[in-house]
Amino acid sequence: MQCKCCGKPLSYNEVGLHKKLIGKCSQSFFCKRCLARYLDVSEKLLEEKQKQFLRAGCLLFVEEAL
Ligand SMILES: [Zn+2]
Repeated sequence: MQCKCCGKPLSYNEVGLHKKLIGKCSQSFFCKRCLARYLDVSEKLLEEKQKQFLRAGCLLFVEEAL
């Protein structure tokens, strides 16, 4: 799976973020950088969100080394 904006290969967590923040029904996804630009937030904020979701037990995310 690749970012629909820049073509970068997507990680499991990037797809998870897109599903959480944009919608579960999406067929194509943004990478973290393009998602941050699209939502007009920092990549840092998305990383914080990802950690929150992971801690809440959301199965769309896995533990990763940043
Ligand atoms: Zn991208």
